[in-house]
Amino acid sequence: MNFDLTPEQDQLRDAVRSLGRKYGHSYFVEKAKSGEHTTELWHEAGRLGYLGVNIPTEYGGGGGGITELALVCEELAATGCPLLLLVVSPAIAATIINKHGTEEQRKKHLPGLADGSQKIVFAITEPDAGSNFHRLGTVARRDGDDWLVSGRKIYISGVDEAGHVLVVARTEDSSTGKLKPALFIVPTDAPGLEKSKLDMEILSPENQFLLFLDDVRLPADALVGESLDAGLPALFAGLNPERITVAAMGAGTGRYAIEKASDYTATRKVWGGRSIGSHQGVSHPLAHAAVQVELARLMIHKAATLYDAGRDLEAGISGNMAKYAAGEAAALAVDTAVQALGGAGMTTEYGVATLLGAVRAGRIAPVSREMILNFVAQHVLGQDKSY
Ligand SMILES: Cc1cc2nc3c(=O)[nH]c(=O)nc-3n(C[C@H](O)[C@H](O)[C@H](O)COP(=O)(O)OP(=O)(O)OC[C@H]3O[C@@H](n4cnc5c(N)ncnc54)[C@H](O)[C@@H]3O)c2cc1C
Repeated sequence: MNFDLTPEQDQLRDAVRSLGRKYGHSYFVEKAKSGEHTTELWHEAGRLGYLGVNIPTEYGGGGGGITELALVCEELAATGCPLLLLVVSPAIAATIINKHGTEEQRKKHLPGLADGSQKIVFAITEPDAGSNFHRLGTVARRDGDDWLVSGRKIYISGVDEAGHVLVVARTEDSSTGKLKPALFIVPTDAPGLEKSKLDMEILSPENQFLLFLDDVRLPADALVGESLDAGLPALFAGLNPERITVAAMGAGTGRYAIEKASDYTATRKVWGGRSIGSHQGVSHPLAHAAVQVELARLMIHKAATLYDAGRDLEAGISGNMAKYAAGEAAALAVDTAVQALGGAGMTTEYGVATLLGAVRAGRIAPVSREMILNFVAQHVLGQDKSY
């Protein structure tokens, strides 16, 4: 068992932390409040190679794995810059295209994802299906060599920043007549694709959208992979990277909040000469949250290591557990930090309450805590499927 990062991973962690500190949480908040995006940070991270760490070198990436990408997600979040699009574009979209796309799709899309000049977002959730992906109603049907895709998607992050969106749709398998899932790389300016921004109570420079697809016409090569058989494995390929990197983002956010609060409670004095942190009523909740964050980090490390070793099934269990643990730990850490900071915790200046919405959402998306518990009950505890 090895808990050490390699020297290269250590260097990456330090370098990403420096970049994050250069921008910091106030930059993240200013962009969110002004309705702008973190474009400068994204492009600089791309130029430095951090967005493509998990993309093979032949397509312009760093040739690393999800371990490296999780480090990038965690360290940026630990400096107050939790970028959800890292989970969507390099983790989900790049993994799916790399593992299940055609060679043309890899050549066309991966270099831009690696250097940050392109983003591809991911659309699976639907208003009438929610957590139940078996109910997906978006349909793709053949029209000559083309595809026509129609349906609705909800809460899709970053559509306004992306050149393409990976849309999950149902198709009919002509040999069996059964509906099977397929993924399509859809240009965000395709005729028939409309987006409508959702008003979310999350302070974030990244936005969510409702998507309407009305007979969006796509060429045959928009389908991910060589045939419809690629659909299901492609869909599953995105899940582990998604869970591991979103967990890393949660762990980083938890670290950020605890660090902010600890700095404050170690120096703030309101009872004579003693710091408020010397009172266990203040320090123990912070220490408890720090333990939860560290436990989540261990599970993230395990899940990423298993995934990069190609042990997908075990990584699935650890990745789900890591996502659950980190989601809970991040929410606990931010709430505890706000409490320890007192009134300062609710100010923009101290930059902790600004994360309350994001960490609350982290217990719902991209997979809810309940759906993870369903998964663990079934696959770890051997219970009958409950849904
Ligand atoms: C900030 C944010 C960003 C997002 N970005 C994206 C994105 O980029 N792309 C994308 O496709 N989607 C995205 N989503 C959608 C997200 O994945 C869904 O919100 C999530 O999967 C839950 O689906 P739902 O909201 O429809 O909840 P529902 O499925 O309606 O569930 C509501 C509640 O019931 C619980 N529940 C449902 N079924 C069960 C069950 N069988 N057992 C126990 N409990 C159950 C859920 O856990 C949840 O608490 C985003 C969501 C948010 C909030």
